[in-house]
Amino acid sequence: MFSDLNQLFERLAASKFRSSFHLRRRELSYFKEKGLDTIMEHAKDLLQTRLFAAEIPNDGKQTPMKNHPVFIAQHATGCCCRSCLEKWHGIPKGRALTAEEQQYVLAVVRQWLVRETENQQKLKISIANSKNL
Ligand SMILES: [Zn+2]
Repeated sequence: MFSDLNQLFERLAASKFRSSFHLRRRELSYFKEKGLDTIMEHAKDLLQTRLFAAEIPNDGKQTPMKNHPVFIAQHATGCCCRSCLEKWHGIPKGRALTAEEQQYVLAVVRQWLVRETENQQKLKISIANSKNL
Protein backbone atom coordinates (compact mmCIF):
# COMPACT_ATOMS: atom_id res chain seq x y z
CA MET A 1 0.00 0.00 0.00
CA PHE A 2 1.20 3.49 -0.76
CA SER A 3 1.35 5.69 2.33
CA ASP A 4 1.54 8.68 0.02
CA LEU A 5 -1.18 8.54 -2.63
CA ASN A 6 0.65 11.18 -4.69
CA GLN A 7 3.37 8.59 -5.28
CA LEU A 8 0.79 6.09 -6.47
CA PHE A 9 -0.77 8.61 -8.84
CA GLU A 10 2.65 9.45 -10.30
CA ARG A 11 3.22 5.76 -11.02
CA LEU A 12 -0.23 5.37 -12.53
CA ALA A 13 0.36 8.41 -14.75
CA ALA A 14 3.50 6.68 -16.08
CA SER A 15 1.49 3.61 -17.10
CA LYS A 16 0.12 3.91 -20.61
CA PHE A 17 -2.59 1.37 -19.88
CA ARG A 18 -3.75 2.77 -16.54
CA SER A 19 -3.68 6.38 -17.68
CA SER A 20 -5.82 5.55 -20.70
CA PHE A 21 -8.94 5.19 -18.52
CA HIS A 22 -11.22 8.21 -18.29
CA LEU A 23 -14.83 8.85 -17.48
CA ARG A 24 -16.81 9.24 -20.64
CA ARG A 25 -19.90 11.37 -21.08
CA ARG A 26 -22.36 8.83 -19.67
CA GLU A 27 -20.28 8.00 -16.61
CA LEU A 28 -19.53 11.64 -16.03
CA SER A 29 -23.16 12.70 -16.13
CA TYR A 30 -24.06 9.78 -13.86
CA PHE A 31 -21.35 10.93 -11.46
CA LYS A 32 -22.67 14.51 -11.48
CA GLU A 33 -26.23 13.33 -11.01
CA LYS A 34 -25.39 11.16 -7.97
CA GLY A 35 -22.55 13.11 -6.37
CA LEU A 36 -19.32 11.81 -4.88
CA ASP A 37 -20.78 10.62 -1.56
CA THR A 38 -23.40 8.43 -3.23
CA ILE A 39 -20.88 7.10 -5.73
CA MET A 40 -18.63 6.13 -2.81
CA GLU A 41 -21.57 4.31 -1.17
CA HIS A 42 -21.90 2.35 -4.42
CA ALA A 43 -18.15 1.70 -4.37
CA LYS A 44 -18.42 0.13 -0.91
CA ASP A 45 -21.19 -2.21 -2.07
CA LEU A 46 -19.62 -3.06 -5.41
CA LEU A 47 -16.16 -3.77 -4.02
CA GLN A 48 -17.39 -5.89 -1.10
CA THR A 49 -18.16 -8.89 -3.28
CA ARG A 50 -16.06 -8.02 -6.33
CA LEU A 51 -12.73 -7.28 -4.67
CA PHE A 52 -12.68 -7.41 -0.86
CA ALA A 53 -13.78 -11.05 -0.47
CA ALA A 54 -11.26 -13.90 -0.11
CA GLU A 55 -12.72 -15.86 -3.03
CA ILE A 56 -13.82 -14.17 -6.22
CA PRO A 57 -14.98 -16.79 -8.75
CA ASN A 58 -14.37 -14.72 -11.90
CA ASP A 59 -11.32 -12.83 -10.65
CA GLY A 60 -9.65 -10.92 -13.46
CA LYS A 61 -12.93 -10.55 -15.36
CA GLN A 62 -15.18 -9.09 -12.69
CA THR A 63 -14.79 -5.42 -13.50
CA PRO A 64 -16.56 -4.08 -16.60
CA MET A 65 -14.73 -1.51 -18.75
CA LYS A 66 -17.65 0.91 -18.72
CA ASN A 67 -20.95 2.00 -17.17
CA HIS A 68 -20.21 2.73 -13.51
CA PRO A 69 -17.62 5.42 -12.63
CA VAL A 70 -16.27 3.11 -9.91
CA PHE A 71 -15.37 0.45 -12.51
CA ILE A 72 -13.37 2.99 -14.50
CA ALA A 73 -11.64 4.20 -11.34
CA GLN A 74 -10.73 0.59 -10.49
CA HIS A 75 -9.05 0.01 -13.86
CA ALA A 76 -7.29 3.35 -13.72
CA THR A 77 -5.83 2.61 -10.27
CA GLY A 78 -4.91 -1.08 -10.46
CA CYS A 79 -7.82 -2.02 -8.19
CA CYS A 80 -9.72 -4.01 -10.83
CA CYS A 81 -8.91 -7.53 -9.66
CA ARG A 82 -6.88 -9.30 -7.01
CA SER A 83 -3.88 -9.84 -9.33
CA CYS A 84 -3.66 -6.13 -10.07
CA LEU A 85 -4.24 -5.29 -6.42
CA GLU A 86 -1.33 -7.52 -5.50
CA LYS A 87 0.92 -6.17 -8.24
CA TRP A 88 0.15 -2.48 -7.74
CA HIS A 89 -0.61 -2.27 -4.05
CA GLY A 90 1.07 -5.30 -2.50
CA ILE A 91 -2.17 -6.67 -1.06
CA PRO A 92 -1.91 -10.47 -1.35
CA LYS A 93 -4.51 -12.65 -3.06
CA GLY A 94 -6.37 -15.53 -1.41
CA ARG A 95 -7.66 -13.79 1.70
CA ALA A 96 -10.26 -11.14 2.45
CA LEU A 97 -9.00 -7.59 2.75
CA THR A 98 -8.59 -6.18 6.26
CA ALA A 99 -10.67 -3.18 7.29
CA GLU A 100 -7.60 -0.99 6.85
CA GLU A 101 -6.96 -2.31 3.33
CA GLN A 102 -10.60 -1.78 2.40
CA GLN A 103 -10.38 1.84 3.55
CA TYR A 104 -7.18 2.25 1.55
CA VAL A 105 -8.75 0.93 -1.69
CA LEU A 106 -11.79 3.14 -1.20
CA ALA A 107 -9.51 6.14 -0.61
CA VAL A 108 -7.62 5.36 -3.84
CA VAL A 109 -10.86 5.07 -5.85
CA ARG A 110 -12.20 8.28 -4.30
CA GLN A 111 -8.97 10.17 -4.99
CA TRP A 112 -9.00 9.08 -8.64
CA LEU A 113 -12.62 10.19 -9.08
CA VAL A 114 -11.85 13.59 -7.53
CA ARG A 115 -8.80 14.11 -9.75
CA GLU A 116 -10.56 12.87 -12.87
CA THR A 117 -13.64 15.04 -12.46
CA GLU A 118 -11.51 18.10 -11.61
CA ASN A 119 -9.38 17.53 -14.73
CA GLN A 120 -12.47 17.10 -16.88
CA GLN A 121 -13.84 20.34 -15.47
CA LYS A 122 -10.60 22.19 -16.29
CA LEU A 123 -10.62 20.72 -19.79
CA LYS A 124 -14.16 21.93 -20.33
CA ILE A 125 -13.22 25.43 -19.19
CA SER A 126 -10.15 25.59 -21.41
CA ILE A 127 -12.16 24.39 -24.43
CA ALA A 128 -14.84 27.00 -23.68
CA ASN A 129 -12.15 29.68 -23.35
CA SER A 130 -10.46 28.75 -26.60
CA LYS A 131 -13.81 29.00 -28.40
CA ASN A 132 -14.13 32.56 -27.15
CA LEU A 133 -10.84 33.61 -28.69
ZN1 LIG B 1 -6.91 -6.39 -12.87
